[in-house]
Amino acid sequence: MNLPKIEQKILRFWQREKIFQKSLENRKKCSKFVFYEGPPYANGKPGIHHLLARAFKDIILRYKTMRGFYVERKAGWDTHGLPTEMEAEKKLGINTKKDIEKIGIDKFIKTCRESVFTYKKEWENFTKRIGYWIDLENSYITCSNEYIESVWWILKQIWERGLLYQDYKVVPYCPRCGTSLSSHEVAQGYKKVAEPAIFLKFKVKDVKGLEADIEQKDLKIPTYFLVWTTTPWTLPGNVALAVNPNFSYVIIKLRVENNDEKLILAKERLGVIDQKYQTIKEINGRDLLGLEYEPIYRASGVSDKSVYKVIDGDFVSSDEGTGIVHIAPAFGEEDMKVIKAQDSSFPILLTVDGSGKMRAPGYKWNNMFVKDADNEIVADLKYRNLLYKKEIYHHDYPFCWRCDTPLIYYAKTSWFIKITSVKKQLISNNKKINWIPDYLKYGRFGEWLRDVKDWNLSRERFWGTPLPVWQCQKCNNIIVIGSINELEELSNKKVKDLHRPYIDRITFRCNKCGGVMKRVDEVIDCWFDSGSMPFAQAHFPFAFARVQRPKSKAQNLEKLIKKLNFPADFICEGIDQTRGWFYTLLAVSTLLDLGPCYKNVISHGIVLDANGQKMSKSRGNIIIPEEIIEKYGADTARFYFYTINSVGEPKRFDFKDIEDLYRRFFATLWNTYIFFSTYAEKDISPKPRIQNLCLLDKWIISRLHNLNYKVIRNLEKYDVVSSARLIKEFIEELSNWYVRRSRRKFQKPNSKKEKNQASQTLYYVLLNLTKLLAPFCPFISEQLYRDLTKITSRSSFATIAEFRLAIPESVHLCDYPKPDKRLINPRLEKQMREVREITKQALAQRAKIGIKVRQPLNELRIKNHELRREKELLELIKEEVNVKKVSFGNKLMLDTKITPELKEEGIVREIIRQIQQMRKDGGLNPRQKIYLRYSGKEFISSIIEKWKEFIKQETNIFKLEQASKRRERFLAEKEFSIEKENLWIGIKKR
Ligand SMILES: [Zn+2]
Ligand SMILES: [Zn+2]
Repeated sequence: MNLPKIEQKILRFWQREKIFQKSLENRKKCSKFVFYEGPPYANGKPGIHHLLARAFKDIILRYKTMRGFYVERKAGWDTHGLPTEMEAEKKLGINTKKDIEKIGIDKFIKTCRESVFTYKKEWENFTKRIGYWIDLENSYITCSNEYIESVWWILKQIWERGLLYQDYKVVPYCPRCGTSLSSHEVAQGYKKVAEPAIFLKFKVKDVKGLEADIEQKDLKIPTYFLVWTTTPWTLPGNVALAVNPNFSYVIIKLRVENNDEKLILAKERLGVIDQKYQTIKEINGRDLLGLEYEPIYRASGVSDKSVYKVIDGDFVSSDEGTGIVHIAPAFGEEDMKVIKAQDSSFPILLTVDGSGKMRAPGYKWNNMFVKDADNEIVADLKYRNLLYKKEIYHHDYPFCWRCDTPLIYYAKTSWFIKITSVKKQLISNNKKINWIPDYLKYGRFGEWLRDVKDWNLSRERFWGTPLPVWQCQKCNNIIVIGSINELEELSNKKVKDLHRPYIDRITFRCNKCGGVMKRVDEVIDCWFDSGSMPFAQAHFPFAFARVQRPKSKAQNLEKLIKKLNFPADFICEGIDQTRGWFYTLLAVSTLLDLGPCYKNVISHGIVLDANGQKMSKSRGNIIIPEEIIEKYGADTARFYFYTINSVGEPKRFDFKDIEDLYRRFFATLWNTYIFFSTYAEKDISPKPRIQNLCLLDKWIISRLHNLNYKVIRNLEKYDVVSSARLIKEFIEELSNWYVRRSRRKFQKPNSKKEKNQASQTLYYVLLNLTKLLAPFCPFISEQLYRDLTKITSRSSFATIAEFRLAIPESVHLCDYPKPDKRLINPRLEKQMREVREITKQALAQRAKIGIKVRQPLNELRIKNHELRREKELLELIKEEVNVKKVSFGNKLMLDTKITPELKEEGIVREIIRQIQQMRKDGGLNPRQKIYLRYSGKEFISSIIEKWKEFIKQETNIFKLEQASKRRERFLAEKEFSIEKENLWIGIKKR
């Protein structure tokens, strides 16, 4: 079997006969099953994880189609944002925002637009090659005017609900990209890092308030606040120190470099002092408030009076550090909050510029990148004897998900969506969603929602959906635009392109003061684009009604929504999307007050390499999907992911496993079909008779319907893995039990009726199996289906049309089989399990004492008395274990005595086996008659002569003779030893 080659043939068949289109056409009038496609970026090549996601999408969509639903599948492309801008920067050979402004935004946008679809062809080919059926021709594209217009409409709804606001806040910020990020973007880029963590000393300016109870000799010794930080670069921005007023603090005396010093720190944190010290006083945190200290780096133009004081910080914890926290409001969310809460005004010192470089004229680290400045600052502190000690600190630190630059926290004016005000609705909407695996619902995803932060929407970038906010240059009046039409009416201009810089040139008069309304500079988070896809992919609401100025009236909206494919019955992406697309989808529909926009979600684990390492370019362990597909076929790759482990677990991708699956599962399935096509009768009735069958046939049909029942039950719960594993098990049973024990009926039937019956049964099972398997392995099932239906008898159909209706040209145009409970026989299945268990144990006994199965034995004693009356089942045991009779006792026992008669029969069996092997090696098909000559000593010859007729019949020989010389050429010849005597055999065609 060459699966990749078969798949290519099937792909051509699908394309030629438009099978995907027909599968949709067939169900046009049926009820809908709504699916949303998460849009990938086409400016990078598809990876192995895309194959995984697409495999899990496709199986459900094909299944639902076969179950009678109309399943529209619109492809989509994510185009905006940093991934595309990064590519454009690379192409243009530039690296900073300044460079972009220098070459002109026009030119940059043009390059972005061109690079959006760099690998579109590769994506389309990949999608088709793996058998993922989706409508690529009518895909949605996030940078189209229609798409953007819908996003604008959504933003206007949010604005009208009072949920869009501008604020000066400390936000996660990528200094390379020059833009802030939203918390869900940050959540995707954490890495383990080792950084310097320092304990440094801030000198207390005036110790008067602390003097009581301190001995005179100690008073003269200088006093310092001991402070811990992992970001020395923030120290020039320091304006205050915070203590927890509820903690106890201590003043200790110790010796540092031959001098005595006094240090203040939280009593609970004394463990950080790793030398001898003397506690000289204990103080309440409250009593430290208001104390002044000497700044380490004095900010110019700031009067000491308003700064450099100890303030109240009840967020200060005793888990790490010293219980005294250095406050730089421009570089920390908590810092900003605590400074804003003060009565007196503290300055916000922005000592770092927008590209992450230190603003420190006169200092060595001026213009240095913040992380590089760390070392210089630490060295300076050490030189000035302000460094108590330095450690290496291991922690998770966020990096830019796109360019891998360490993020910094940075004070910026940004636009936010007030997600925190719809937190309750988010949580209750999540309750209505069916998560697979279910632990994500209240675990990873639920936890994310519980800690949700306002959405930092704006990006100070270029290629994105422009924030549709126009602001008066004179009175700051704001208008949010919700449609192209609205903008055209206001500006009296035709608006052709919604992107920067074109859109920035559209201005109009302020309706309040007559000033000029100009668009703000920012574009939006591209994750908002993809989260808006349920609406924007359909150009909602514009495509559904003539909406001149869309109104936010809930009633109107509800009416229009009914026309939309909303909500989705099913979506599927990787587990990383809990903080990406799964979240933004839910956020947007919740903001619009429309409830959850998906009902069922499969979230699969990530793909790792065989050693459990993440795949990355730098490690060189990336698996290219094409390699697997070209070697083992897309079906193998798909089925591998369906069966390897439970869906949410990480997948350790191992070639060995996939090789194994290909060899065992697919080869077994294929060989079963080859056996059928070689031996079974042709011209099989489309509705085989399944009454009055032998027990083995009844059993396999019972197993088939049982399988059918369970597969449907599991797939209805979106449990792909259990279904796929059941199919895998069934194929093993079919091949290793049903076919093996039926072999004789096909090859040496006792009657024509016997063979006919076995053929009908195996046909029936295989045909239904291909239908059950079709959504999982669309290629091999198609091939088997088409081969099987070629031999379906047409005589019972009046016309070809009637035949096609009953037997469609493709398995994917069939209905999914329905189980018939009347054909499921649990008692028989239980008995057969016992029979298989008995034979397994008996064969194990043979193996243990080293008697081959070919050697017949006299008797097997079994303890199961219930089988006493089941003659057919006992016959199966006899054949499988190769014993003359089965008797009943209490213990399973094999009579291992080999009588001369049994021995002789064993020798004959061995000779027959050798001949069969020679036929196979000689490329003969089982129907071909052969001529056989042999040469051997007396003992063997006499046995062959005695069993001549039997051997001839078993191996399809028309003439068998003994000859001492071998003059002629033979098709195959072989010399081997049997019972220590040599035997030579030669065969040739008739
Ligand atoms: Zn970046
Ligand atoms: Zn104005």
